[in-house]
Amino acid sequence: MKKRRSFRRDLSDSLAPMSDTLRFESKRRPGPGVFERRSVLDYWKISSSFCSRRFGCGGQIVGHTRCKESMHQADCDVMILGAGASGLMCAAVAAARGRKTLVLDHADVFARKVRISGGGRCNFTNLRASAEDYVCGNPHFPKSALARFTPADAVELLRGLELPAHEEEGGKIFCESAEQTAEALLGRARRAGARLLGGAAIQAARRDGNVFRVDTSVGSFRASSLVLALGGPAWPQIGATAFGCKIARSFGLGVTQFRPGLAPFIADGDFRKLCRELSGVSLPARVAEPHAAEGGLLFTHSGLSGPAALDASLSWREGRAVVLDLAPDVDLAEKIDQNPRRSIKNILAQVLPKRLASLLCEAYGWDGVGADLSKKRLEAIEGRLHGFSFTPAKTAGWPQAEAALGGVDVGALSSKTMGAKDVPGLYCIGELLDVTGRVGGFNLQWAWSSGAAAGEVA
Ligand SMILES: Cc1cc2nc3c(=O)[nH]c(=O)nc-3n(C[C@H](O)[C@H](O)[C@H](O)COP(=O)(O)OP(=O)(O)OC[C@H]3O[C@@H](n4cnc5c(N)ncnc54)[C@H](O)[C@@H]3O)c2cc1C
Repeated sequence: MKKRRSFRRDLSDSLAPMSDTLRFESKRRPGPGVFERRSVLDYWKISSSFCSRRFGCGGQIVGHTRCKESMHQADCDVMILGAGASGLMCAAVAAARGRKTLVLDHADVFARKVRISGGGRCNFTNLRASAEDYVCGNPHFPKSALARFTPADAVELLRGLELPAHEEEGGKIFCESAEQTAEALLGRARRAGARLLGGAAIQAARRDGNVFRVDTSVGSFRASSLVLALGGPAWPQIGATAFGCKIARSFGLGVTQFRPGLAPFIADGDFRKLCRELSGVSLPARVAEPHAAEGGLLFTHSGLSGPAALDASLSWREGRAVVLDLAPDVDLAEKIDQNPRRSIKNILAQVLPKRLASLLCEAYGWDGVGADLSKKRLEAIEGRLHGFSFTPAKTAGWPQAEAALGGVDVGALSSKTMGAKDVPGLYCIGELLDVTGRVGGFNLQWAWSSGAAAGEVA
């Protein structure tokens, strides 16, 4: 309880007004979230400014004994690789603790996944998030971080950032603008004192004595703590890579190969034809196989999408069937009793989108008046309606996957701090870990929770 109170204070500290010494970050910004490429020399200017803020050395970082000593030969205390959701959260929390924090990213536009999240509205969290909403090598692993930075904390963070948000079905918290949300998170990290450097492609990282050394396309940097927040390869078109796993492996951490998660299903054969004809039709559905899930289902020109299908993709494997209830909680016999002389097609059109009802009747030869159906026939129709089964050919893969399954093996990490058990000072957070949430704000909540956990101790 005591811990949580101090954590809240850290967050509000990070909302303190921007100090003069940090204003360099905002000079000549070409557009929202776009940062100038900086040379190593520029970086040192930044360091000087930073140093002047912390130690009053007047911007003369080089040769200033106190600064040198305080930095233990490192350029900063905490170096975070990746300026995405988890990296920015970690940066704000670490910097608010007074840690000299540097965030490096190869992109010039930071937090790009946040900017496209939730179809441009950013499903920031889910009030019902718990460890059960995640696929993870150790199902207990997400518990500690989720309990320390909860969905309620995420909502409080939104309030602190003065971002309008509202709750939707299933506890989903949506912002009004994902772009605005990303900008607010960047501002928060900067105001807390973190420095962000774009255009810095990470090349390698290693331990050099008691500091970590990271080589990038714009020079090498050293820090006493290193946080890997490099995400996963979902949506490579916005700069997402699997590079974080390579770095993690170089430190001896175990890695499970990444696979696309939360991806639409691609159908083939007759079912693909049916999907094409129904393209754009959506309905609420319940998934029975490969695991229980529910939500909207959307027919696309190539298969099935929508939250229910994306969720199902988390545990689907090639060759397995997906079983759906197309009319959850509908009792067809009762519907027929209410209108016994209606055709089965019209009765189905009451409980399903019209085009779907009509195509199902055509495909399976369902016709005639409801009351005239034999018991066996009615059972067969009900069986299809509540247990509609199809075997996808594949998923749409990385370009349309909203998450990466697999990643850094959580067995090598502390669930409280995200720190590597065998490499003191090394932390892994966010999507890079083998922790993947369902559709509905769970993945961003994991980014906030894991980022805050590392930021509190790194
Ligand atoms: C289309 C889409 C919509 C989504 N919508 C939602 C939603 O509404 N709600 C939700 O909860 N989740 C959503 N997600 C998932 C969520 O966005 C991610 O889980 C979350 O952003 C992961 O955060 P992260 O910090 O771990 O990784 P990222 O946000 O991916 O950040 C990783 C950073 O590392 C940088 N990087 C990668 N490789 C290198 C390298 N070699 N050198 C330097 N930098 C590098 C990248 O540029 C990036 O900035 C969505 C995902 C997608 C793709």
